[in-house]
Amino acid sequence: MTRLESIFFYMVGLSIMLPFSAVMARPPATSLGPDQRFKVDILVFVAHPDDESLIAGYLARAVLDEHKKVAVVFATRGNAGENLVGYEQDRALAEIREQEAREALASIDIHEVWFLRAPDTPWLDLPDVLRSLESWNHGRVLEEVVRFIRLTRPEVVITMLPDVVVGENHEDHQAAGVIASEAFDLAGDPTWFPEQVAAPADHLWYSNLMEGLHTWQPEKLYYFTDATQLQFVSGKGPTYSMTAISLSQHVSYARLAAREKSYHKTQYGDGPEKDLAFANLEHFEKPLTFILGKSLVGGATTGDIFQGVVPGPIPFHPVRGYRPNPNPPKFWIELGGGWAFYRRFYPAHDLVSMEHLLLPQIGVSSGQDFSIPLILHNNAAKPVLFNLKTSMPYGWSLDSNSSMYAHHYIPETSFLVGPHNYFPIRIRMVAAQVTSSKWQDIEWTAEADGRSLTPVMLKIYDEANH
Ligand SMILES: [Zn+2]
Repeated sequence: MTRLESIFFYMVGLSIMLPFSAVMARPPATSLGPDQRFKVDILVFVAHPDDESLIAGYLARAVLDEHKKVAVVFATRGNAGENLVGYEQDRALAEIREQEAREALASIDIHEVWFLRAPDTPWLDLPDVLRSLESWNHGRVLEEVVRFIRLTRPEVVITMLPDVVVGENHEDHQAAGVIASEAFDLAGDPTWFPEQVAAPADHLWYSNLMEGLHTWQPEKLYYFTDATQLQFVSGKGPTYSMTAISLSQHVSYARLAAREKSYHKTQYGDGPEKDLAFANLEHFEKPLTFILGKSLVGGATTGDIFQGVVPGPIPFHPVRGYRPNPNPPKFWIELGGGWAFYRRFYPAHDLVSMEHLLLPQIGVSSGQDFSIPLILHNNAAKPVLFNLKTSMPYGWSLDSNSSMYAHHYIPETSFLVGPHNYFPIRIRMVAAQVTSSKWQDIEWTAEADGRSLTPVMLKIYDEANH
């Protein structure tokens, strides 16, 4: 070995040994895991303070008797609502309602509670989920719900039913269901909101514009509903008895749910009348059924919410995504608004259980004036005339005199739809006056370019005034 060679090998040896001697001198740096304080079993995402009250009996059971950890995220602070105990309204009311919701949830030992401060959408007779997605700023709320899934890493996500139902049917409730379903599918995908899952440059220093969260794939997605006509939920998910007695609290889950709800004083009042109302548990004692949106870990549809759940992370599960019909009909009609959206939304998010859960339905009150959106589609390269016919039961009528939607309502039944275009219309109708509530079917048939198109059906629950 020449002198030069020996110097070379000495240098190489030194460079190999140096790192080892450094290791010997100091223990290795250790990576930090996700913040364990925020790990929960269930994340609940709802629209308004008091929406959680619909499932408070189950949440009480999960937290107090099954020792599950639950976090609740509210999209809004219910600022558009009434105030039964004072004059405070709007943003002042929001401050109060946030506090009421925290106290309500604390009564069943839930303390991880967040508010996204989206605006509470004023209630309409016939709501449309798309209005809420617009007024909430869909993208911003979605980003936040994805963040909360990544922060709290729930196995189970519970939210409200993304569908049009007969009942309260608030559009904000549906929007919560849509966004939670989207977030369920996106939180495990590092290409969505990547700034949330990028490592900070130096977590010990300031101004890090990377959030350092981890991707997270939840396992099961459940819905609950504000529907009043509940026949459709039977067998679609687990049912929990609310008259069962809590082992740890020695009162029924109905009692715990009533107490939880009673904290929402701006909505249900205060004083002796309220105490009396909440002492009557009949309303709270009905069994509570959830609807299984989907499970990535198996378990029976009607099995317990935690059936099949495995601890720890599971692999990301990509969904099918939107795929247009490869052979669309040349001409077709469909219900517009939220219905048109949901038709495309369920298959895109692998929500097989939702595709046939409900026939399109709405509730109206006896004699109510309302409008139904329809879309006429022309996939041909030429303008085409659609002739539309509305078939209604006895006592129902089309309203051609309404001024509010006069520019939408076209008393004619013929519509010229441009090539490769669509024509959104609204049919204004007046429901029959009824003395007892009943289901009625409305049907639209159409003819385009000389051919009959597949009809559109809508089931309407005509509710008698009490
Ligand atoms: Zn609500």
